[in-house]
This record gives sequence, C-alpha cells and structure tokens, in this order.
Amino acid sequence: MEVTPCKDAASGWVWLTLPAGTEWPAGQPAEGVEVHSRIDPGLRRLHAALHTAGHLVDALARPHGFQHTGNNHFPGQARIEYAVDGAEFDKDELAATLTTGLDKAIAEALPVTAGEQDGRRTITIEGLATEFCGGTHVTDLGLLTDVAVRSVKVKSGRLRIGYTAEHAESAI
Ligand SMILES: [Zn+2]
Repeated sequence: MEVTPCKDAASGWVWLTLPAGTEWPAGQPAEGVEVHSRIDPGLRRLHAALHTAGHLVDALARPHGFQHTGNNHFPGQARIEYAVDGAEFDKDELAATLTTGLDKAIAEALPVTAGEQDGRRTITIEGLATEFCGGTHVTDLGLLTDVAVRSVKVKSGRLRIGYTAEHAESAI
C-alpha cells in the first residue's frame, strides 16, 4: 500500500496518509501486529545527498550575514531560506561564490559525522558546520555529485537559495 508522508511544521509530527478513497484494512494494524516496511535504497541515497548538500549550502551562505529561517530538502524543490535583514549583495556573485565553495568542499571530501548535543542529534561537516538534524546524510562530501546552485531569488525580504544534488552511488 502506498502512503504519502505529510509533515506538520508546528508539531514536527510526520503523518502517513493513505491515497484518497482507500479504506484502512479492517482490523489492522492493531497493537502488537507485526508490520513490514521497505526502504527504497536509491531514494534514500538521494535524500541523504540532498540533506547533506543543504547543510553545506547553508554553511557557505551564513557567513554572508543572512539569518537562516528554513529548509526544504525534497527532491526537485530543495532550497534554504533566509531573512536578508538589509544585507547588500549581488545574486549572481552570491551564486558564483557558493558554487566555488561547494566545489572545493566536495573535492576535499570533507567527513560528515553524527553526534549529540543537549540530548539532540547533531550533524557535523568537518571544519564547516555543526547543526541539529535528525535527517539522513552521506558520510563524506565525496559521495555528492551534480551539486549546483539552482537559483538565488529574493522576494519580500526573503532570500531563497535553490540547489540540486545527487548521490554518487545512486546508480548502484
Ligand atoms: Zn540534515
């Protein structure tokens, strides 16, 4: 049965919803019933690549003085958002600077490690950033490929940096 994840931003809960018109199978799954789930390895690697690339884009963008306000790591719409707070910048120059930084960090294959701080999971890109995150990530930046700044847009004081990323082993 196909289910669709739906995240409630306020609570952080992720709900799995059934396709419209689907009847929940009578009597299951009740408490104690064994269920099986399956992870799509290719999709999992894509999410790991997008998540990690998002942290990397953020680590490179923040020193420009933008205040981070949100992320979206979903395939095809991955982006990081900031409040501009009056910072002056050229969008093309920012894209070029970020691209240079991305290429350098990926060429260096910087390690990506998980840790814990204040009881919450952290993710660290060595030498660049440590953030709280419960997501899936690659173990070093050398596993990222086709990472690019897709767009740099400013609207109503919000900077939106769109990006793309693939996993180097996604074809395996
Ligand atoms: Zn993450």
